[in-house]
Amino acid sequence: TSFGFKEVHEEEKSRMVSNVFSNVASNYDLMNDLMSAGLHRLWKDRLVSKLNPFPGMKHLDVAGGTGDVAFRILETINSVKHRAMQDVLEDNLYEETRIFVCDINPNMLNVGKKRALERGSGEEKSLIWVEGDAEALTFEDNSMDGYTIAFGIRNVTHIEKVLAEAFRVLKRGGRFLCLELSHVEVPIFKEFYDYYSFSIIPALGELVAGDRDSYQYLVESIRRFPPQETFASMIADAGFQKVEYENLVGGVVSIHSGLKL
Ligand code: SAM
Repeated sequence: TSFGFKEVHEEEKSRMVSNVFSNVASNYDLMNDLMSAGLHRLWKDRLVSKLNPFPGMKHLDVAGGTGDVAFRILETINSVKHRAMQDVLEDNLYEETRIFVCDINPNMLNVGKKRALERGSGEEKSLIWVEGDAEALTFEDNSMDGYTIAFGIRNVTHIEKVLAEAFRVLKRGGRFLCLELSHVEVPIFKEFYDYYSFSIIPALGELVAGDRDSYQYLVESIRRFPPQETFASMIADAGFQKVEYENLVGGVVSIHSGLKL
C-alpha cells in the first residue's frame, strides 16, 4: 500500500500499536467523538445492552482503554439498583460486582482511573484497572461472566490468541462480545466512507492531536481486519457457540457475539 505499514514485522507491530496509544491517550476521548461524530457512544451503549449486565457479575473488558465500556456496564447495573430499592441482602450482591479493565497501555488506564475518580459515586471499588496483554491474560480459567473488547482486537498481533484467551477465562454460559470497526459493503456509502477515513481522519489526527501517522495507521488497520463472516468463523473456531454479528451503520462497525457453553 501507499502507507508503508503493510510490511511491518510482528514485534514492530506491537511496538507501533503501543506508541500509537501512548501518543493518543490524552486526546483519545476527544478524537473518538470527533471521528465518529459522537456515534461511538451509541455503539458502546448497544454493546452493553447486548451484554445484559447484572449485579455481582465478574466482567472483563479487554483493551478497555479509558474505561468507556466499563463505566457503561456499571451504570447499567446501578440503574437497576436504584429502581429496585433493594434490601441489605441484595446490597451485598452489588458490592460483589467486579469489572476488570485490562489494557496493555498504562497511559490509557491512567486517564481511565482519573475519570473514575472524577465520577465519584463509589464506582472505584467495583472497577479494577489491570495492565495486561489480551493475548496472554493473567486471569484464571472459567472466572468471568462476561468478556468485552471494543475497538481493540483489530490492533493485536494474533487475533486467534486473543479469542483463545477470551474462551479460557469465561465461565460456562459466559458471553463474548466484540465491537469493532468493520467493512462497509453498500456501494456508494463505501466510497464516501473510504474518502472519509483515508482523507479526513488523518487530517483530523494532525489537526487535533498533532499526529497524522498514528491516525493513518489506525485507518489502515481497519482495512486489514477480516470481514464480518471471516471473523465470525474465527470466533467459532475458538470454541464459541451461537456466534452471530450485527452490523451498525451499514458495517462501519459490527458487534460479534458468542457463548461459551
Ligand atoms: N475499548 C476502549 C474504547 O472503546 O474506548 C479503547 C479502545 S482503543 C481504540 C484500543 C486499546 O487497545 C488501546 O487502549 C490499546 O492500548 C489497547 N491494546 C492494544 N493492544 C493490546 C493488547 N495486546 N492487549 C491489551 N490491550 C491492547
